[in-house]
Amino acid sequence: CMQTKDEVLSFCEKNNVRFIRLWFTDVLGSLKSFAITYQELEGALNEGMGFDGSSIKGFARIDESDMMAFPDPSTFQILPWRSGEEKVARMFCDITNPDGTPYKGDPRYVLKSKLKKLAEKGMSFYVGPELEFFYFKSDTEPIPLDRGGYFDLTTLDAASNLRRDTIRTLEDMGIKVEYSHHEVAPSQHEIDLRYTDALKMADNVMTYRIVVKEIAQKYGFYATFMPKPLAGINGSGMHVHQSLFNGDHNGFFNGEDTYYLSDMAKKYIAGILTHAREIALVTNQWVNSYKRLVPGYEAPVYICWARRNRSALVRVPLYKPGMEKATRIEVRNPDPACNPYLAFSAMLTAGLAGIENNYQLPDPIEKDVYHMSQKDRESYRIKSLPGSLREAIDCASESSLLKNALGDHIYEYLIQSKQIEWDEYRTVVHPYEVERYLPIL
Ligand code: GLN
Ligand code: MG
Ligand code: MG
Ligand code: MG
Repeated sequence: CMQTKDEVLSFCEKNNVRFIRLWFTDVLGSLKSFAITYQELEGALNEGMGFDGSSIKGFARIDESDMMAFPDPSTFQILPWRSGEEKVARMFCDITNPDGTPYKGDPRYVLKSKLKKLAEKGMSFYVGPELEFFYFKSDTEPIPLDRGGYFDLTTLDAASNLRRDTIRTLEDMGIKVEYSHHEVAPSQHEIDLRYTDALKMADNVMTYRIVVKEIAQKYGFYATFMPKPLAGINGSGMHVHQSLFNGDHNGFFNGEDTYYLSDMAKKYIAGILTHAREIALVTNQWVNSYKRLVPGYEAPVYICWARRNRSALVRVPLYKPGMEKATRIEVRNPDPACNPYLAFSAMLTAGLAGIENNYQLPDPIEKDVYHMSQKDRESYRIKSLPGSLREAIDCASESSLLKNALGDHIYEYLIQSKQIEWDEYRTVVHPYEVERYLPIL
């Protein structure tokens, strides 16, 4: 991959790259893009490209809407699905104010500044997300393409070709894939990316979502990261494996410990558990996210940790010899419709709060917490994730930790915009109500 402006310029010249798309992400995690021609590339790399930020969700108000986009040369990639004679490339951008100072509403900046602080202590944050998604016939009809289930292959898995094509495209764009398989629900799939540092991974998640959608469209299908598209069937999660490294050393590993976890790892988990309710507005940001977080579908509801138990919020994959570098924790509540920059930033902030303030990690819960009585859960002091976007907004509104994780600008925008979403939702008369009440009332 390329590093400098000059490398990007000479590559584009030699390879007939005529258009370059400049990518960035709005506060709610939608990918934004505008194209420039090769002629403008040098200027864009050196002086940034101006654009009007007033129509971007969570960006500036109309009276201060001039923004600049500075392409990051290290993110340069050719778009494989647009390759003909004239190639199209993309770069992720950093957004600044006209005076060149970082724009506080840019999610990439938010994560970058958290990682910078961490780097000052000699540490890095590694993440490996598992994004699940569905293929449907169209975006208006959630009709599955197959009846396959977990790890199914053969003819049941009509999507094998789609998945293979998707993985090839991701790898062509420099994104390493570890696993891919059919997931539990019909037409549900998962492609797991090899762990890397959190900023690169957030960029990769943005790329992954667009690649999955582009390839599906090529085959005439629709791919969705909606957390719970079908009631009564597993939803789509984005489990996030995470660890903190000190240089080359995995700070989460301790060979002497029963769980092979360092004190730092335990405090990090305690931080995640303590703040999971406050940061849910970011890890699970839509009305629909909370329809996934219900008992019985391998998605967490109750706030506890475990090694084997997949109903827990945090799982610690079992240690195998040679796993020193791979020792990590898996946070299971985020969903693939989050803003990855903000979700990584929020989880990191929660985990670090645990480390900095010496939080104590409670014992693991190896029982199935879905089927535990409320009384038993209370005796173990197991709390629940927010049950709705409403509850998540309330938890977030009182959270100085979330404010710190996102910065004031994004924090305030998010709470406001989620309040509007909730009000829209709660005033809709749902089919449930018509079916249930109309005949009897
Ligand atoms: N789909 C489940 C979730 O919502 C996870 C299933 C799995 O990966 N075992 O998180
Ligand atoms: Mg998986
Ligand atoms: Mg899975
Ligand atoms: Mg998993």
